[in-house]
Amino acid sequence: MIIEPKIRGFICTTAHPTGCATNVQRQIDHVVIKGPIPSDRKRVLVLGCSTGYGLASRIVTTFGSGADTVGVSFEREPGEAKPASAGWYNNRAFENRARAAGAKAVTIEGDAFSDAVKAETIEAIKSTLGQVDLIVYSLASPVRTDPKDGVTYRSAIKPYGSAVTSKTLNTGTGEVSEISVEPASEEEAQATVKVMGGEDWELWIKALSEAGVLADDFTTLNYTYLGSELTWPIYHKGTLGKAKGDLDRAAAAIRAAHGDNSAHVVALKAVVTQASSAIPVVPLYGTLLIKVEDEMGLSEGPIQQIDRLFRDKLQGVIVLDDASRVRVDDWELSNAMQAELKKRWAVLNTENLADLADLPKYREEFLKLFGFSVGGVDYSKDVDPRVVE
Ligand code: NAD
Repeated sequence: MIIEPKIRGFICTTAHPTGCATNVQRQIDHVVIKGPIPSDRKRVLVLGCSTGYGLASRIVTTFGSGADTVGVSFEREPGEAKPASAGWYNNRAFENRARAAGAKAVTIEGDAFSDAVKAETIEAIKSTLGQVDLIVYSLASPVRTDPKDGVTYRSAIKPYGSAVTSKTLNTGTGEVSEISVEPASEEEAQATVKVMGGEDWELWIKALSEAGVLADDFTTLNYTYLGSELTWPIYHKGTLGKAKGDLDRAAAAIRAAHGDNSAHVVALKAVVTQASSAIPVVPLYGTLLIKVEDEMGLSEGPIQQIDRLFRDKLQGVIVLDDASRVRVDDWELSNAMQAELKKRWAVLNTENLADLADLPKYREEFLKLFGFSVGGVDYSKDVDPRVVE
């Protein structure tokens, strides 16, 4: 069949197997060309392994440091005439290439919040890796069912405390407008912490520890976004920021139980992913950031960020901020970049968007998440949606 993008709101409901495989290959190439990354952590578990920062982490540890991996993600399988989710194609493309390179790669597709998937993952670790030295927690989900009581929580991406009025962008039409977002109720804020906070991270570490599959000197990483003052009202000071603040609490609890080096929250830069495109205000900030980064020669997508994390930031003595976080958002939050972003944000409107920001590149990055708009792929070619190279 010929597969074309079908965009609904901020998601694309189709994905292209060849485009996704090409994306995976290009990310691998980025790491391989830069050369090996020394690391003793050769047995890695990646939670949220199929797209964005999780996929980049699996690629960097496998192709940079020669690690074997178990990955967990939530995917839609293909049908005879129905494309799979992009993550399903990415997982298959990754496994094919990892195994061809001599690395073990086992992927579990299911709900990482459930006890059943935790148990299945532990069995996979026992049979393929024995134990794990590194656990990367990179789940991004709008919903979580608590395995203890079966209650389902939905995150609400809203301000906390008071309403926020901000510029925002309709990425479909290119229109810049003002939105007012009402603050979350206390119940919505708590639900967001339940979904995106540290509780499930701690449950994973507890389950892995009790099953005896954690190496003595294991480390676990969890990714956060602090971001620019421009997005603070909706993000850092909103419900998501509250949930992310709970990661710092969880990291401290894991360190108290397992030692100083056992858990780090890592602050990463804003990139275009399925998760970030759903957050109000963030896509407008993203279109500005893409342009300013390009002009400053500091462009980074997920693979460049995660490569820099493992190649530079996690080598030798790890430098932590005053909240014990590893910072890879240093370029984005540099004074020079923020000053330029703030200057443009103040005057940004629909008419000058094309000069000050880069919506075409944002749209291209968004389509690439689903394997579309990838250079070198012949989209007029008939493909079997069940087959990935
Ligand atoms: P993403 O949407 O690209 O990836 C999310 C991953 O989680 C996918 O592999 C998906 O399959 C998996 N997942 C979702 N629900 C699941 C479930 N119930 N069970 C199993 N797997 C599930 O997201 P991303 O942007 O790469 O975000 C990953 C982490 O990085 C998040 O913690 C996010 O807050 C953080 N982060 C993102 C940005 C950004 O700009 N995108 C910036 C800094 C930090």
